[in-house]
Amino acid sequence: RTLSYDQLLIAAGSGAVQPEYCRGDNRAYTLRFLEDALKIENQAVGKGIVAGGGFVGVKTAYGLKERGLEVEMVVSSPHLLSMVMSERAAVWAERDLQSLGVVLNRSADIAEIHAANHQVLAVLTSGKEIRSDVLVVGKGVIPRLELARSAGLAVEAGILVNEFMETSEPDIYAAGDCCQALDVTRGRPWINAVWPVAVEQGYYAGMNMAGFPAAYPGSVAMNSLKTPLSHLINAGLLKTAEGVTFHERQTPGKNQFRMLAMRENIPVGMMFYNAPEGAGPVVNLIRRGKPLSPGIPEAIVSGEASLYDLIKTLTR
Ligand SMILES: Cc1cc2nc3c(=O)[nH]c(=O)nc-3n(C[C@H](O)[C@H](O)[C@H](O)COP(=O)(O)OP(=O)(O)OC[C@H]3O[C@@H](n4cnc5c(N)ncnc54)[C@H](O)[C@@H]3O)c2cc1C
Repeated sequence: RTLSYDQLLIAAGSGAVQPEYCRGDNRAYTLRFLEDALKIENQAVGKGIVAGGGFVGVKTAYGLKERGLEVEMVVSSPHLLSMVMSERAAVWAERDLQSLGVVLNRSADIAEIHAANHQVLAVLTSGKEIRSDVLVVGKGVIPRLELARSAGLAVEAGILVNEFMETSEPDIYAAGDCCQALDVTRGRPWINAVWPVAVEQGYYAGMNMAGFPAAYPGSVAMNSLKTPLSHLINAGLLKTAEGVTFHERQTPGKNQFRMLAMRENIPVGMMFYNAPEGAGPVVNLIRRGKPLSPGIPEAIVSGEASLYDLIKTLTR
């Protein structure tokens, strides 16, 4: 059936990255749809392998552990949560998981898997073999671009849009995980594949499609990971980038770690581990690109910045 349109929105989202070994019904699943979760739940007995050390991988490891499984993680990076934590900070997240008995295989990848007597046998690139009852793969997401490509729209990692969420083709808009729109901390288009960003982009696309011009202010990457043992909140730039300096501080005697990334006097990234207090205003300072007075970055990472100081800076 052919539908005509005056304005069209592409919000096709993203799919899970599926390694070659994960294709087929072999007790290896990515986690995207409810049916994936139900299959994993059905087979969550005995031992589980989690491939991937990002948010989905870490949450899955805790989830399987809560169900009483033995859990082994296979993480291609040298440490867990490498997209959001420095090696120094990740030690805390790793200790928490290890305290529950989770085994970590770092700088490791699965080369192949085999069905083995109602189990899965994973062979790592190192040659190590691990048997398990279920294997969950959390290796990131990939935007669904087939529609945009077939329509000849400009595409990089995602569908490129202008400040009005309009693609390279007039009257075709894009929003959400499939869309590459302005990221305020990077100053260029980027994919920030999280729900609040998708919702906000949808709002701006809708306004413009309805004839109410509204420039999208841009997004900031942000995530919150709450587990039985920890609470991680991060936003903005977390990796070395030109002109960005990092302030990091572990609170003595506490399982707390704070990191703030600054470009000159503008905050552009943050990561708070087990320190949710004050995180909200700091994320907002990053979103709005508010300059910080001398001493404030240090006070933020030491946990000594008062809510009053932060809100005063925000409303300045
Ligand atoms: C396991 C997991 C955990 C997550 N946890 C969080 C979290 O804690 N917090 C958070 O903020 N975000 C989280 N996310 C990310 C969040 O789900 C996405 O950012 C958000 O759903 C993106 O919304 P969207 O509308 O762009 O895409 P989607 O929600 O993926 O929706 C896209 C829709 O388009 C449909 N579609 C695709 N192609 C076509 C087509 N050609 N024609 C018609 N329809 C099509 C799809 O079937 C789907 O229904 C998580 C994602 C996963 C996979």
